[in-house]
Amino acid sequence: MTAQRTRLSVPLLDRLVPRFRNMKPYEPVAPPERLEAESDAGEEGIVKLNANENPYGPPPRVRALIESFNAANIYPDPDHAALRACLAEYTGFGAERIVAGSGSDELIALLTRLFVGSEGTVVAATPTFGMYAVETDLSGARFLGVPRSQDDFSIDLPGLVEAACNASIVFFSTPNNPTGNSVTEEEIRAVAETEVLTIVDEAYVEFAGKSLMPLADEYPNLIFLRTFSKWAGLAGLRVGYGVFPVDLASILMTVKPPYNVNTLAQAAAIAAIEDLDNALATVNIIVKERAVLQEGLRSLPSVRVFPSEANFLLVRFLEHDAKELHASLLRRGIALRHFNTPELRDCIRISVGRPRDHERLIEALREEMEAQK
Ligand SMILES: *Cc1c(COP(=O)(O)O)cnc(C)c1O
Repeated sequence: MTAQRTRLSVPLLDRLVPRFRNMKPYEPVAPPERLEAESDAGEEGIVKLNANENPYGPPPRVRALIESFNAANIYPDPDHAALRACLAEYTGFGAERIVAGSGSDELIALLTRLFVGSEGTVVAATPTFGMYAVETDLSGARFLGVPRSQDDFSIDLPGLVEAACNASIVFFSTPNNPTGNSVTEEEIRAVAETEVLTIVDEAYVEFAGKSLMPLADEYPNLIFLRTFSKWAGLAGLRVGYGVFPVDLASILMTVKPPYNVNTLAQAAAIAAIEDLDNALATVNIIVKERAVLQEGLRSLPSVRVFPSEANFLLVRFLEHDAKELHASLLRRGIALRHFNTPELRDCIRISVGRPRDHERLIEALREEMEAQK
């Protein structure tokens, strides 16, 4: 009988590369089952407005594909040939310039790994999407946020350009998550002119209806990222893509995990584009509902609703505790997003949902704001 070894001379966790010993986690959203179990929503069910998902789901062609899917036993195409051909037609850029990822999150991770060493700096106008800082931390590099105006979340362009000059990457999210406002062409040009690697994340571009992607042909240091998670209702399948200079695209194809985008995700993304009219119909509904939600929120006392070109609204509470409101709504089964950072402490991000979601939201908010007084 061998003795059971209970102690190591050097414990495993002491052997971790030092920067991984105390990582700050990205706070992902809980799945609906857990939200339901942890709330008193009861019969009414939960209202999930915390992750900018499309509440209408993917278009009919994708749903039919998922129902008839029978290739789970076969490895996915590592070259994403059919998907890239389809995206070439959709974007107008050659398939050789397109790379797909397991969500655009994977492309953010790959690009950070490729271009940011432990001595590097990654820059973005903050508040912005949290994964840029998370991936920077994982690379052992420094994340430098250039604060946006607290008044309207506009970018401090001179500050950003100055920071860009010593950076490995500048990330833009446009429309920006979580503030909802878009980056201007001038801002992207000014940063790209510094020759820094400039990554423009257009995760919400379909809701804004205007893309700056044509600029990719003007700057060899400019990259665009997109995702099927938000507009196409495919967040659960994980598929995103980017447009890159051709030589960088081939390096990404070499270093990515070979089967990074699963078979169903590749087929579903193609089907979403083949069913574009239906997919965009839900985008249009969401854009219309955004205006209705904005009105509803503005009818509440002491709130400021920031203008948004995406499928969410950022709200600032002038006289209430946003963190408390977020927690009390969660207990009632209404999930919103609160960010525990100094810049956003008094704000809540609300994804645009269906009309009945908004009715419950506004009623609950009104009651909880009253109760807090
Ligand atoms: C949601 C989101 C993503 C990630 O999308 P996935 O494709 O689901 O990984 C990327 N960027 C921004 C700004 C987002 O809000």
